[in-house]
Amino acid sequence: MLRECIHCETDFNLNSPAKKRAGGKINECADCVEELKLETAVRYLGLQSGDGSAGTLNIVACKSNEERAATVAATQADPNKDVV
Ligand SMILES: [Zn+2]
Repeated sequence: MLRECIHCETDFNLNSPAKKRAGGKINECADCVEELKLETAVRYLGLQSGDGSAGTLNIVACKSNEERAATVAATQADPNKDVV
């Protein structure tokens, strides 16, 4: 299904793998989503303590990929926690 991008006015395939990977809205092409960093979907991150018990699983909502990466980095630096 072809859509016209609201940013660059180029027709793009809404069902293309590139668009699926990039995310963004249905009227934004994959190139613009990546270039303009339009993907704002909340990234959920599961944190589990090192003992592996499910009761300690924390789901962290990160506003951005940067925040998510920072959380992952902080977790990996903590020997008592594993990223799941
Ligand atoms: Zn575009």
